[in-house]
Amino acid sequence: MAITKVWIEENCTSCGLCSDICPEVFVMKDLATVVQGIQYSDYEEKIKEAAESCPVEVIRYIE
Ligand code: SF4
Repeated sequence: MAITKVWIEENCTSCGLCSDICPEVFVMKDLATVVQGIQYSDYEEKIKEAAESCPVEVIRYIE
């Protein structure tokens, strides 16, 4: 299965961990944001690692 969609739910604490792990997909503004228009399947392992590492578990993806 390939990841086709990534998003962040409410309550991001802006810790920056996701963008440290996978800066190609997660970019910090006031809150973490997801880069649009890229092939998420190219970063599958790092997206999963970011989701597992997020301290408030707000990173979601569909595969
Ligand atoms: S790891 Fe989670 S809490 Fe931290 S910036 Fe990313 S989405 Fe927000």
